Amino acid sequence: MLDCAIIGGGPAGLTAGLYTTRGGLENVTMFEKGMPGGQITMSSEIENYPGVTGHITGMDLMIPWPEQCQRFGLKHEMSEVSRVSRREDGIFLVQKSDGSVDEATSVIVCTGSTPKRAGFAGEDTFFGRGVSTCATCDGFFYKGKEVAVIGGGDTALEEALYLAKICSKVYLIHRRDTFRSAPNTIARVKETANIELVLNATPQEVVGDKMGVNGIHVKLQDGTVRQIDVPGIFVFVGNNVNNQVLIQEDGSFLCEMTPWGEVKVDLSMKTSVPGLYAAGDMRAEAPKQVVCAAGDGAVAALQAIAYVDGHH
Ligand code: FAD
Ligand code: NAP
Repeated sequence: MLDCAIIGGGPAGLTAGLYTTRGGLENVTMFEKGMPGGQITMSSEIENYPGVTGHITGMDLMIPWPEQCQRFGLKHEMSEVSRVSRREDGIFLVQKSDGSVDEATSVIVCTGSTPKRAGFAGEDTFFGRGVSTCATCDGFFYKGKEVAVIGGGDTALEEALYLAKICSKVYLIHRRDTFRSAPNTIARVKETANIELVLNATPQEVVGDKMGVNGIHVKLQDGTVRQIDVPGIFVFVGNNVNNQVLIQEDGSFLCEMTPWGEVKVDLSMKTSVPGLYAAGDMRAEAPKQVVCAAGDGAVAALQAIAYVDGHH
């Protein structure tokens, strides 16, 4: 029986592993389907992790984390978890893709989330070289420059407002002429002098060279194509939360979720189910930053230690 099962080995899962083991839990396994480190390992530069100066990649940042956890006894199993469920006696069952099952007193789910891609030509080629899905991460690289934002939901409009404070101009490109966003957010966008709305405009192709992005071609309603010259393109067309492990046999979720599939947690990362915690990008209102995911992991771990102590 595991004291704690940690699902996912990104910044949230690894920090949960560090704090649970160093805090005295003896039998903790982190299940990670790939290499530990999480999605930040895809980033070519991270400059907002506190205390880290100089040019480092996301991979550089994450390389020491697993070794640090292992020093305190965290076990790492390279497995994909297919489902977490809870027996009537309160014990959690961690089912894996190979069919095997582990039992655990507590579970911390840290499986992250994945921004959707819009699907226009060059989006993947230039991802990380001018195309981004994170304004907090990459907006500063375009300080004083013009950028484009794609999308017409709450995220696109809120991130356009964030970027408008850093960048000289934001082109907000949306495929319709009405937004899905909250009315007060729409009003704030319309009142912001350096946001230009480019409506009824479908992104077609990112143009650029070896140095990165130079601009984007958008098809307008009358069939003409407009070229917008920008070095940075931010895509906010929705988000896939990696919540599949919480889906039960009958299709319901193990714990309460928001309407858009994130796990509802309180300030202690407790879910609606005792002994089950969620941390990092998959939880509601996550700022989607490494430092925040790591903080969530630590908070969840401290709660799991107290929960397990109460069950021994
Ligand atoms: P993730 O990092 O997504 O980790 C989740 C882990 O769970 C993954 O390793 C995955 O393989 C594993 N997993 C998922 N499902 C299963 C399963 N069923 N079984 C087993 N394992 C599973 N943040 C910053 O603070 N600064 C930046 O500059 C920055 N730049 C970024 C650049 C890019 C290109 C990207 C993609 C992200 C960037 N971020 C940045 C955001 C940051 O990476 C995330 O906020 C952070 O990684 C979230 O951590 P997490 O542990 O919640 O999830
Ligand atoms: P969303 O509401 O699904 O909006 C996605 C936007 O991207 C839509 O405007 C959509 O256009 C556009 N889009 C989708 N695919 C596209 C493509 N291939 N090419 C071009 N445009 C494309 O996603 P979200 O903004 O990430 O929000 C997700 C959920 O979180 C929503 O329920 C939202 O309300 C919520 N949220 C709330 C807050 C808040 O309350 N403060 C903040 C952020 C998010 P169409 O409109 O034409 O479909």
